[in-house]
Amino acid sequence: MKVVKFGGSSMADAGQYRKIREILMADPERRVVVVSAAGKRFSGDHKITDLLYLCHAHTQYGVDCSNIFEMIRSRYLEIRDELGIKLDLESEFSALKSGLDRKMVSQDELASRGEYFSAKLMAAFLGFQFVDAADWIRFKFDGSVDQEASYALLKDRYKDFGIVIPGFYGMMPDGKIRTFTRGGSDITGALAAAALDADVYENWTDVSGILMADPRIVDDPQTIPQVTYDELRELSYSGAQVLHEGTIFPVREKNIPLNIRNTNAPNDPGTMIKEAFDGDSDPDRFITGITGKKDFSVISLSKRGLSGQVGYLRKVLSIFERHNVSIDYVPNGIDNVSVVMPTEAVSSSLYTIMAEIQKELEPDSLTVHDQIAVVAAVGRKMAFRPGISGKIFATLGEAGVNIRMINQGPDELNIIFGVDNKDFKTAIRVLYDSFVK
Ligand code: ASP
Repeated sequence: MKVVKFGGSSMADAGQYRKIREILMADPERRVVVVSAAGKRFSGDHKITDLLYLCHAHTQYGVDCSNIFEMIRSRYLEIRDELGIKLDLESEFSALKSGLDRKMVSQDELASRGEYFSAKLMAAFLGFQFVDAADWIRFKFDGSVDQEASYALLKDRYKDFGIVIPGFYGMMPDGKIRTFTRGGSDITGALAAAALDADVYENWTDVSGILMADPRIVDDPQTIPQVTYDELRELSYSGAQVLHEGTIFPVREKNIPLNIRNTNAPNDPGTMIKEAFDGDSDPDRFITGITGKKDFSVISLSKRGLSGQVGYLRKVLSIFERHNVSIDYVPNGIDNVSVVMPTEAVSSSLYTIMAEIQKELEPDSLTVHDQIAVVAAVGRKMAFRPGISGKIFATLGEAGVNIRMINQGPDELNIIFGVDNKDFKTAIRVLYDSFVK
C-alpha cells in the first residue's frame, strides 16, 4: 500500500482534483491520501492557509473578516460545484463563522480548516472515507507527536479501503486542535505512512523532484533521481528546501522510501529518497547536488602556542554557548581557530562575544569577516574517490573564485567551502557545469 500526499498547488482547483483522481486510478496501491489546503492557482493568487491566519488576526483586533472568510468559502464551494460533488459545506462554514465571530475558534483550529475542507471534498470526490487527523494524530503537552498512540489509532481506523486524511494538524491531550508549523502536511503524510507500514510514501507537488541546484542560479538544472536520507539532510541543511524538516524522521525510522512526484507531470519518476541504494543508476555522476547559503560571519582568533593549550577550543565555544549561538563550522589551524555561523545568529551579541573572547583567551589577533557564503557539494559517491576535491578547487580557481574556508568530514559525504558572497552564484554555476553538464 502507498500513502500519497498532495500539496497545496495540487489541491488548488477542480482541474487539479481530476488529475489526482487519474493518479490514484493509475495505481490501486495508492489508497491512503493526505491533502493540503488549497494553494495558489496562479502567481498572485492566495493560499487558503494564509487567508485563514489573516482572518484570525482580524478578529483578534476586533476587525471584521467577512470578506476574507468569503474568499475562503467560495474557493471550496467553487471546487465542489465544478466537480458536481454533493456535500453540504454551507452549514459547516456558517457554524465556523459564527464561532469565529464569538472568538471561540483558536488560531490553530481556524488554520487547520483549509486541510479539513480539502479532505472532505476530496473524500467525496473519490468515494473514499474521510478520516479526521484529529481522530488519530495525538500531540503530547510539549508539542511533540505521541507516535505510539497516533499509530495505534490510525491502524485501528484503516481497513484497506481508500481513505483521505487532512494534513497539518492533530489533537492535544486536552482535545484542542493543534497544527504543525507551516508546510506541516508533509509530516502528516510521513506519520500515516509509518503508522500503516506503507511500501512507499509519495509526496506529490508541482516539481518533478529535487533539483541538483537552485534554478534561480543554474538554468534548467537536472532532477536528482536518487538521494539518500543522509545526503538529503546535508542538502537541506545547506539551503535546498524541499520537504518540511520533520518529514524524514517517521519514514526513515521504518525504512520507508520517500518518492517526490509531480502532479502536473505524473509520468516523471521524480526523486527517490532511501536509506541506501543497491546498484548505481548513474555511475559517472559523483555529485548528487550543489547547494549553499549566503551571509555567514567568520570570527577568527590566533595566538602563539594556542594548539598546546588544553581546553582552548572549549573556552572559545563556551562563549558562544553562553550567548545561545548555534555554530555551523569550526575550521582551525595550528595556532588559530575560526568559528562560522549565520551573521543573523550573532546580530545582537557580536560585540559582547568579541569582548569576552578578548578577555578570556587574550588572542594575538581577533577578526570578524562577514559577507561569506557557504557552498556544499554533496554526494555519497565522493567517498574514497581520489581527485574530486582537486577537481572542485581547480574549477573554482579557473573561474577566479577565491576559497576562504574548506571543511570536509571523514565520511566524505560532502565538501563544504566558504567564498565571498559576491562569488556565491559563480561558484555554484561553475561546479554544476563542470560536474553535471
Ligand atoms: N496548508 C499548510 C501551509 O500552507 C500546510 C501545508 O500545506 O503543508 O503551511
